[in-house]
Amino acid sequence: MYRPTIGLEIHAELKTRTKMFCDSKNDPDETRPNVNICPVCMAHPGTLPVINREAVRHVLRLGTAVGGTLADFSEFDRKSYFYPDIPKGYQISQYIHPLVTGGKLAGVDITRVHLEEDTARSIHSQNKSLVDFNRAGIPLMELVTEPVIQDAETAGRFARELQLLVRTLGAGEANLEKGEMRIEANVSVARETRSDLKSESSRSNLVSLLGTKVEVKNLNSFRSVERAITYEIERQTALIKAGERVVQETRGWDEAKQETFHQRFKEGSADYRYFPEPDLPKLFLSEISEFSPEAIRTSLPELPWERRARYTKFGLKAEDVECIIASVARGVFFDAVVKELDGGHEPVVLAANYFISDLAGESGNATPASFAKLIRMFAAHNLSSRGAKDTLLIMVEKGGDPDVIAKEQGLIQVHDVTALGEAVDKVIAAEAKAVGEYKSGKQAALQYLIGKAMKESRGAGNPESFKKLLIEKLD
Ligand code: ADP
Ligand code: MG
Repeated sequence: MYRPTIGLEIHAELKTRTKMFCDSKNDPDETRPNVNICPVCMAHPGTLPVINREAVRHVLRLGTAVGGTLADFSEFDRKSYFYPDIPKGYQISQYIHPLVTGGKLAGVDITRVHLEEDTARSIHSQNKSLVDFNRAGIPLMELVTEPVIQDAETAGRFARELQLLVRTLGAGEANLEKGEMRIEANVSVARETRSDLKSESSRSNLVSLLGTKVEVKNLNSFRSVERAITYEIERQTALIKAGERVVQETRGWDEAKQETFHQRFKEGSADYRYFPEPDLPKLFLSEISEFSPEAIRTSLPELPWERRARYTKFGLKAEDVECIIASVARGVFFDAVVKELDGGHEPVVLAANYFISDLAGESGNATPASFAKLIRMFAAHNLSSRGAKDTLLIMVEKGGDPDVIAKEQGLIQVHDVTALGEAVDKVIAAEAKAVGEYKSGKQAALQYLIGKAMKESRGAGNPESFKKLLIEKLD
C-alpha cells in the first residue's frame, strides 16, 4: 500500500485601499509599472512600516469563518532572503504568532492563517530582468493546511471552497490566472505497513510515518492543481516501488508537458533567520474591541456552506446550487428573486431552472422583480415554456415588464375557450387530411393538429387546452 499525503499552502492577495505597510495604492488592475510605489514599499533607508488595519480584519474574518482561533497576541517577523523582488532583503511575514490558528474548511484541517506582504513582480525576458514594484507590499494572506489530504480531488475542492470564501467575505478577488490566489501543493507518498495502520488514531504517529515531501509551484488553475498532484503521486510511487528515494525539493508544473520538473532544493526555515520585526508594534488583539471574536463573528455574511444548505433545502439540483453560489453577484440576484417569490419551493426551483439553464446565471437587464413576475406568469399557465423563454431573453437584453413584453410578442396564452375554439374550428376546416387520419386512429395526426392550432393562435394557446378542444370536437 502506498499512502499519498497532501498539504496545501495558499496565498491570496487581499482587497484593501492601500498596501500592507504604507499608503501606496493597492490596485491589482494597474497596468503601468512602478506607479503605486513610495519610499516605504521601495525600502528606502529610514522609512517605517505601519500595519494596515483592513488587512488584519480580513484575515480575522476568514479565520473566524473557518472556525479557527484568533490570536490573543500576534506579531510580525522578518523573513530574510535576497532577491530583487524583495528590496528590503527581508519580507515582513508572521512566524511564531500568526493571526489565526486551527479551523477547518471543506473537511480539511487548517494549521494557520497569517498575514504578510507580497513581493514585486519580476519579468524575465531573454537578456534582461524587469521588476515592477506595484505589487510589492500588497497585503497577502497565507493559509496552511495540515498534511491530511489524501487525494487530488479533495485538494481541488478545498482550494475552490477557499476561493469562494475569500470572495464571499469581500477579502479579495482570488483569481488564479491573475495570480491573486496562488496554490502550492506539498505531496508525499509513504509505503504503508500493517502495523502503521493500527496507529492511525494518533496524529503525531501518523505524521512521523509520512514520506518525504515535494513542494509543487506554478499551479495556475484548479485543474493544474489536481493534475500536478496526481502526477506527483504517480512519480513518487514509481520511485519508491523501484527502490529509489524521493528527494525533498521544489518542483514546478509544466502546463504544456503536463508534468512536474525540478526547480530547486528547498531551503530550511533556519536559512530565513526569522526574528520579530522591531519596527512594528506587537498586536494584543483581545484589547482591540473591533477585533474581538464577537465583533468579528457578527460582521460575517452568509457563508458559502450556509448558502449551499439553504438552497439545497429548496430542492434545487446540486449543480444549480454550485452555479449560483459560485458568484457573489449571482447569489445576490437569485436571493432577491427568492424574496419576491415569497420563498415558495416550487417557484424557486423553476426560477433556478430558468436562471441557470437558460441564462447561465447572467441576469443582464432583468430585475429580480420582473424575473419573479415571469416565473409567476409561467406557473399560472399564462405563458408556455417556449413563451417564457422568449420573453426572458428579451427581458435580459432590453429590460422591461414580462407582461408587456409577452403581450407585444403575442405570447400570452389564451385560456378563453371561445377564442381557442375559433382557432380549432379553422384548423379542422383547413386540415381535412389530418382530421381523417386522426379519425382512422392515427394519434400522430392529433399532435399535428395541436401544432397547427398553436400556430393559428400565434403561440398564445395552451397545448393542453387545444388537445382537449380538438378531442371534444372530433370524437
Ligand atoms: P516547511 O517548514 O518545509 O514549510 P511545514 O511543516 O511548514 O514545512 O509544512 C508546509 C506544508 O507542507 C503544510 O501544508 C503541510 O501540511 C505540508 N506537509 C508537511 N509535511 C508533509 C508531508 N510529509 N507530506 C505532504 N505534505 C506535507
Ligand atoms: Mg512552512
